[in-house]
Amino acid sequence: QEAHAAEMERTFIAIKPDGVQRGLISEIIARFERKGFKLVAIKLVIPSKSFAQQHYHDLKERPFFDGLCDFLSSGPVLAMVWEGEGVIKYGRKLIGATDPQKSEPGTIRGDLAVGVGRNIIHGSDGLETAKDEISLWFKPEELTSYTSNQEKWVY
Ligand code: ADP
Ligand code: MG
Repeated sequence: QEAHAAEMERTFIAIKPDGVQRGLISEIIARFERKGFKLVAIKLVIPSKSFAQQHYHDLKERPFFDGLCDFLSSGPVLAMVWEGEGVIKYGRKLIGATDPQKSEPGTIRGDLAVGVGRNIIHGSDGLETAKDEISLWFKPEELTSYTSNQEKWVY
């Protein structure tokens, strides 16, 4: 089980300033927690604009890039790392489609958001971006490694 835990996939999840301001932190964390995923890092930060630009560097040619980076740096963001089997892909499934108008009911964005520019949460979209985003937002010593009591019942 120890070896298993070491191989577990990790993803970067962030509650954006709108989600924090709307009081949705506990609601969102509960969904990841109840699924059986494990929280391994968490902190509340107000990113600078240049940090936001780094985080969203893949989107720098898009017309909404500047507004998006202004928004991400406008207030506290809850940055987290979640761990578990298939957590990158399934985390995106819990989150729902980018545009909340197209997100299914039952997903975080489907249930809790309306506008694409205020879609409350970010989740890494693949293994490489997960690694890049985790190392952008967290120092290695901020990532915990532990066995949760749940694990022997989840796996
Ligand atoms: P996702 O967050 O689902 O991975 P993207 O990586 O494509 O989506 O886009 C990053 C963020 O940029 C989205 O979560 C959303 O907040 C914002 N965004 C995407 N498309 C638009 C758009 N057409 N207009 C405004 N903001 C957008
Ligand atoms: Mg994305």
